[in-house]
Amino acid sequence: MANMTDNIDSVTSDALPVLMIQQVEARRSDLVSRYHKSLRETLFTNRSEVHPSSLRRIAEEEVGALLHFLHSPLPDSHERGMQMCQVGLSEKSVLNLGRATRQFFAGCLESQQVAPALDLVGIYQDAVIQGFIQNREKIVLNEQERIRKAFELTISRFTVEIKEVQALAQRATEANEFKSRFIARISHELRTPLGAILGMSEMLQHNVYGPLTAMQEDIIQRIINNTRSLERLFSEFLDQSLIETGQLNLRRSEFSPQILARMVYSNCLPLALQKGLAMHLQVDSELPPVLIGDSKRIEQVLNNLVVNAIKYTETGSVDVEAFMQHNTHWGLRVRDTGIGISKEAQAYIFEPFRQVDETSERKHDGVGLGLAIVQELVTAMNGKVSVESKIGHGSTFTVTLPLQAAKDSSR
Ligand code: ADP
Repeated sequence: MANMTDNIDSVTSDALPVLMIQQVEARRSDLVSRYHKSLRETLFTNRSEVHPSSLRRIAEEEVGALLHFLHSPLPDSHERGMQMCQVGLSEKSVLNLGRATRQFFAGCLESQQVAPALDLVGIYQDAVIQGFIQNREKIVLNEQERIRKAFELTISRFTVEIKEVQALAQRATEANEFKSRFIARISHELRTPLGAILGMSEMLQHNVYGPLTAMQEDIIQRIINNTRSLERLFSEFLDQSLIETGQLNLRRSEFSPQILARMVYSNCLPLALQKGLAMHLQVDSELPPVLIGDSKRIEQVLNNLVVNAIKYTETGSVDVEAFMQHNTHWGLRVRDTGIGISKEAQAYIFEPFRQVDETSERKHDGVGLGLAIVQELVTAMNGKVSVESKIGHGSTFTVTLPLQAAKDSSR
């Protein structure tokens, strides 16, 4: 750059002789046309931001600037380069103008005049190119700065938004925990009066307070049935709250899988018989007589599956099976001949509050928590629950649990 300025300074007094400039001036329109053509060609081959309608004007300006320089070589050709960059010309366009100029001068000047004229034109064009490059660097730096600022702004906005989302998530977690604690508390409190209603109703039913008429017996039975449904519902709410707050703790004690299966079977048998369903129990003789685990929760799992099997079966049977699996696991299977579950529904019925029939006219009671609780309990015991089913052909739910036999368990 320093050399360039020196060159320009050294030629400031060396304008072309007037005669030569007149020769060039006489063909000014020819030079404008050459520039215009050259710019159009580069525009066609290079992606440029310049609109084609401006090319003629740019060409005229450029010829004007060049002639001005030839009259009195001044360092403002550097400025001209900056302008060319600002209007959006590419570097290739500027270099092409140089080529067009050289050809033009070779064509319109006497051979001995060409060399000094081209020297001067070369100085002009070097300065233009330098100005062009410098301005482009400035544009690039400005653009980098603009991008950096935009990036910083985005990051700071993003940080604010993240903080807001975190605060919202925290509030949602707190609200959810509050809801779970609230439901747990209410469910617990409601179960006590429900127990009292049930106990007193059963005393009435067993004639503790004197004989009942047929109508009174019927009414008491309905009170008991409805109270049991409410009790089941509140137990499910309580369990779901415990699950959501991570308070579902399992106990470990010895129990007999045979007795457990038989107990659930006998408790549910009256329900099945009331609906005219057959019910069978099969217990694998290979099952150890004493296992270790949370028998209350395993009983709850089996009970939920059997109650569902009866609930969703109108004719046929419900079969309960306790089985051994590869000496490492044992399991419980409940097979029914009921309405069955589609493949799509099988994918979501283990989610809380999900039911195949979610319409308000659904004919079965329940809120869709039974299977979700089964899944949570079985998973907490390192077991698995699965379903096989076909619409209209019944369903089979299978639970497998790791076998933990008591040490002195003898067959
Ligand atoms: P619900 O209280 O609705 O019975 P569950 O969580 O126990 O809730 O079951 C979820 C849904 O899965 C039920 O609403 C029902 O649509 C379907 N389902 C569960 N067990 C059976 C079954 N044995 N046969 C057919 N459908 C069943």
